[in-house]
Amino acid sequence: MKYSLLFLFLMTLHSASAQFVKPDGGGSIDLPSDHLSTEQRSKIMQNLEIKLDSLERIGAISKAKAIDVRFSWPLRAESHLFDFGYHGISNFVDHNSKFPSVLTDYNCGRRTYDTNSGYNHAGIDFFTWPFGWNKMDNSEVAVLAAAPGVILDVADGNFDRSCSFNNNSWNAVYVRHSDGSVAWYGHLKNGSATTKSIGEEVEEGEYLGIVGSSGNSTGPHLHFEVHDASGNVVDPFKGTCNQIESSLWQSQRDYYDSELNALHTQSAGPVFNQCPSPETPNYKDGFLMGDNLVAAAYYRDQLQGQNTTYKITTPSGSTFRNWNHSLSEIPHYSASYWYWNYPLPTQAEIGLWTFEAVFQNEIYRHNFSVSDPDTRPISVYLESPQNGAEALETSQLLRWVPLADADEYEIVISKEDNFNQPVVEETLLNSRDFDFQNLDENTVYFWKVRARNEHGTGSWSETRTFNTGLSTSINDENTELPAEPGLSQNYPNPFNPSTQISYKLPRSTYVQLKVYNLLGEEVASLENSQKRAGTHSVTFDASGLSSGIYYYRLQTSDFLEVKSMTLIK
Ligand SMILES: [Zn+2]
Repeated sequence: MKYSLLFLFLMTLHSASAQFVKPDGGGSIDLPSDHLSTEQRSKIMQNLEIKLDSLERIGAISKAKAIDVRFSWPLRAESHLFDFGYHGISNFVDHNSKFPSVLTDYNCGRRTYDTNSGYNHAGIDFFTWPFGWNKMDNSEVAVLAAAPGVILDVADGNFDRSCSFNNNSWNAVYVRHSDGSVAWYGHLKNGSATTKSIGEEVEEGEYLGIVGSSGNSTGPHLHFEVHDASGNVVDPFKGTCNQIESSLWQSQRDYYDSELNALHTQSAGPVFNQCPSPETPNYKDGFLMGDNLVAAAYYRDQLQGQNTTYKITTPSGSTFRNWNHSLSEIPHYSASYWYWNYPLPTQAEIGLWTFEAVFQNEIYRHNFSVSDPDTRPISVYLESPQNGAEALETSQLLRWVPLADADEYEIVISKEDNFNQPVVEETLLNSRDFDFQNLDENTVYFWKVRARNEHGTGSWSETRTFNTGLSTSINDENTELPAEPGLSQNYPNPFNPSTQISYKLPRSTYVQLKVYNLLGEEVASLENSQKRAGTHSVTFDASGLSSGIYYYRLQTSDFLEVKSMTLIK
């Protein structure tokens, strides 16, 4: 889970006592790239022209109009991925037609490439990280339509584990927008492309495929390439070396989009196997007393001097280890990882431990458990969905922190908090989650979990509750999308210590929802990511704040609204 920084003093305490500690391992990874031969490129262009002509003739596509098309981010983490971030950008468009290695990206930097044969990278490469092969195999990162349009072509069925330059064909979707521009979404996972076909419309934010490594590619990534109505390559990023009138992104991200993508506890450092074998992350969240503990952090766009403070906290709240680290050796890594070995004491406290990092004023947390193998299991800590989560979809992955000494788990799910008539009562072996399918719409559910081993049965976890929303099916009349964006009054208000804030979006967009005190100082960041069209609700927990009035502000690429709320303690 990622928390916004509520207490500035907490961070000060954090860093005051932490020493710089060199990692036990880590570094950077080889970033994926691609190459479309002149031959492949002209074949694609010819094919798209034929498709466009025929669609125009049958009236399935209208003539290009002079309207602004703005892109949303073309990637989404699927709901079974629990990391904070999941991608980075390895290559931008090369604006310098000279070669080899004569490189100019939109920001006049060199984060692009060309080849000896004269290919200048014509798109943006979004790589998935950490562990792109695992992400592809688990279908964790979806490719989305960046703008609404009509499908010009879909290619699927091609081999998707390319590791080096070759002549393979890629799996791709091509979407033509109403201004006549066309977006290429390339290298998709085999069999993942949208079931929609040529001539069908897609919405902005609609699923197109899964990030893969089909075609002329060296690893899993999305090659996103845009052509204008005349067929010329355009770079959506506005910058000193790409002086377009305005960015084609609804909300252009920073050139260095630094993020702590993931925080994990592991049994050992990660292993990057020979391409295309999936990586071995060595993730481990259930430990026994005395086990080796590896604490690992995975970054995108980590810059020299950016400091991270790490802390491992025991169940009783005392600090087991704290340290800090910053990149010192080079100015920038697009993808980096670092890990530290911290063996647990043989008499380590049992219960729920936390591995925490503070990076760029945000707190990131990862939970793990420590068990005593000679006793019955401790009570299970539930992780997801959050207690009280609202309007969830009708399939949910219920997840908890595993226990190293559990032989099995028992999960009970009911529509009543007394669990009298459970809808699910199951014993699960070696699992840390339950895939709960076909839930009723508009229904409240309660769930709890306990573990068993040879010494007995542990006590029940807390009971958590959540409710489902209406079906999100496009054909459902009840699910018309909001016509206008809007921010609702929080409920309850006044509140103590937490309250719900809802907002609605007529289309998918990048959303920031932040809370400020009366001095205008940011006290919480509740949303900072791409969101789907529809109604969303978040919980604001003000446990660490003092009574008073607070502002909350919703900002999208074209909408801003501020409301206030009152905390009374
Ligand atoms: Zn590319």
